[in-house]
Amino acid sequence: MDSLRIIRIPIFPFDMVNAYLVVTRKGCILVDTGLPGSEVKVTKTLEKHGLTLKELKLVVVTHAHIDHAGSAARLRELSGTPIIGHEGDIQYYVGEKKMTYCSTGWAGSLFLKTPVPHEPYTAFKPDILLSDGAAFDLDRYGIAGRIKRSPGHTAGSISLELGSKDALVGDLVASGILIGGIIRKGRAIRSPFEDDPQAVASEPKRLLDAGFERFHIGHGGPLDAEAVRRHVRRLMVVKRGAPSVN
Ligand SMILES: [Zn+2]
Ligand SMILES: [Zn+2]
Repeated sequence: MDSLRIIRIPIFPFDMVNAYLVVTRKGCILVDTGLPGSEVKVTKTLEKHGLTLKELKLVVVTHAHIDHAGSAARLRELSGTPIIGHEGDIQYYVGEKKMTYCSTGWAGSLFLKTPVPHEPYTAFKPDILLSDGAAFDLDRYGIAGRIKRSPGHTAGSISLELGSKDALVGDLVASGILIGGIIRKGRAIRSPFEDDPQAVASEPKRLLDAGFERFHIGHGGPLDAEAVRRHVRRLMVVKRGAPSVN
């Protein structure tokens, strides 16, 4: 396999909202698309690294929240690149259902008072729909790794598990303050929202047990394995429904 680069796309400053490019000489894939209107930031980051939208081979949407799925439809329109998403979030992608949020603490509750999480985004139907238990191999893009379901944050959350020991996990874990980033970006915390706290607690442990060393996340980061391990230990003592341990 080619040498692989993981490039962060700053959707918001201070790493508050991230998307990513995973790049090899065979092309690149985009992981998450930012809020509506983020296609300009995606294009600028591609250009900064000598790439264009034409080089995009796949758009991965880790879950249906607006800060991850918001520009997916527009980016497909501009680039012709297929989108992959999980069937667990399909009703939100196609606009059949309005997103609901289960807050894990004060940051989530505060964010829910702003209009952002309630705004609709342009609906889209993923070209590739991942089902439970299925893995989508990335070898065809010159990338050692696969995409798999990593539930909990939402029912249809997915992660990239790369052979380089990098995991791109969306909002499975968060960091920093408020919705993420700004400061303390290397410290793992719970995401402001979790649909299923039990699943969110067990999934990072599975990834650690599988040997993943770097965790690239939607808000702040990256996190090393030790930071995620400490986070998992804290989660183990939090009872379901208890207040956030952030
Ligand atoms: Zn989210
Ligand atoms: Zn997010």
